[in-house]
Amino acid sequence: MIQSFNAVIVGGGIVGTACARALSQHGLRIALVEQGEIGAGATAAAMGHIVVLDDSPAQLALTRYSQLLWKQIAGALPREAEYNQRGTLWVAADDEELENICRKHSAYNQAGIPSEVLDPQSIARLEPALRPGLAGGLWMPEDVVVSPQLAARFLLQEANVTLLRQKAKSMGSGKVLLGNGDELHAPILINAAGEGAPALTPGLPVAMRKGHLAITHPYPDFLHHQVVELGYLKSAHVTTTDTVAFNVQPRQNGQVLIGSSRQFGAKSREVEDGILARMFARAAEYLPSLPSLSIERTWTGFRSATPDKLPLIGPAGYDESVFLATGHEGLGITTSLATAQLLADLIAGRTTAIPIDPYLPTPDRLAANIPGA
Ligand SMILES: Cc1cc2nc3c(=O)[nH]c(=O)nc-3n(C[C@H](O)[C@H](O)[C@H](O)COP(=O)(O)OP(=O)(O)OC[C@H]3O[C@@H](n4cnc5c(N)ncnc54)[C@H](O)[C@@H]3O)c2cc1C
Repeated sequence: MIQSFNAVIVGGGIVGTACARALSQHGLRIALVEQGEIGAGATAAAMGHIVVLDDSPAQLALTRYSQLLWKQIAGALPREAEYNQRGTLWVAADDEELENICRKHSAYNQAGIPSEVLDPQSIARLEPALRPGLAGGLWMPEDVVVSPQLAARFLLQEANVTLLRQKAKSMGSGKVLLGNGDELHAPILINAAGEGAPALTPGLPVAMRKGHLAITHPYPDFLHHQVVELGYLKSAHVTTTDTVAFNVQPRQNGQVLIGSSRQFGAKSREVEDGILARMFARAAEYLPSLPSLSIERTWTGFRSATPDKLPLIGPAGYDESVFLATGHEGLGITTSLATAQLLADLIAGRTTAIPIDPYLPTPDRLAANIPGA
């Protein structure tokens, strides 16, 4: 069977569902192709931290723009999506990290993003379970936590789309071929297939970075904010060895989500006891009573990483019908709404709210080597 649409999106994760919502808001007839459950890929594995980061001006612009878009839909999200502006507390273990905190504070200040440098006493007041002796912290009051899979389902509900539960076998030349032999025809095809994106667009410079997470049983009042060590940013750049960093998040019911790890080249989805042990040991350096909490569940997920740590958003180049919305690595929940809005504006020929150029899949970006792939 052949069906025709204005646009076909492959991938029903947070990025694909956000694209479906943004495109359908402008009256396009959209099909969304998902081989499994909505949001069950990397989206379900994520912490759901909607966080502003400033590794580069382009990353800062995209994360902040997207965070503001999340804020706009916050009131419409169902309660189960647990949207909560908990804020992030970045903690510095030593003077070098404290210097970095002051640098970040001034960058955020210049960008008009609220942040506050905290002394050790203020940190202890905010999070009494943290070990004493930390050098200082940075408080980001506008960062948010959301339950990512439920948010993806909400975005899909908001979209006026035809959902096809099929595997896409190929996309190109205005056509998506489905596993059951059906064809979807459209002038715009969006590859938002996350881990599956390189199979549909061969040669994408995207590599998988495995991550582990664990969640405890409920311990109300143990933790109040997302707390992350500043060293997390350093560890996120390492591409030669497996890294772990202290990154914890209280859920609404008092469960504590414990992250996180980054592994390049790991293929198996298995939970690795060695990595978990390193993650827990790192977390206990900051939260000495953490080992007394009991763990309810552990899992892994794969982040799709690009060489320059920016997603690929825009025309794929090799085929005029194919657009990319992938490569969001550890920030896809945060940047999904901005990705979708940028793509929708680009396709409609509207001016984008922030310059789209840094995220466009230019020949140079597509030809770059992915370290550790
Ligand atoms: C451990 C961990 C923690 C994270 N924490 C955070 C966080 O706190 N904040 C944040 O912003 N980001 C976080 N991330 C990153 C975030 O999870 C991802 O960037 C984001 O989920 C990517 O969304 P996606 O829609 O591109 O991919 P996915 O959610 O993987 O969706 C892709 C979908 O495409 C479908 N698909 C693939 N191939 C095909 C095909 N051929 N046909 C049909 N369907 C197909 C898949 O079934 C899947 O549902 C984390 C990631 C990990 C692994």
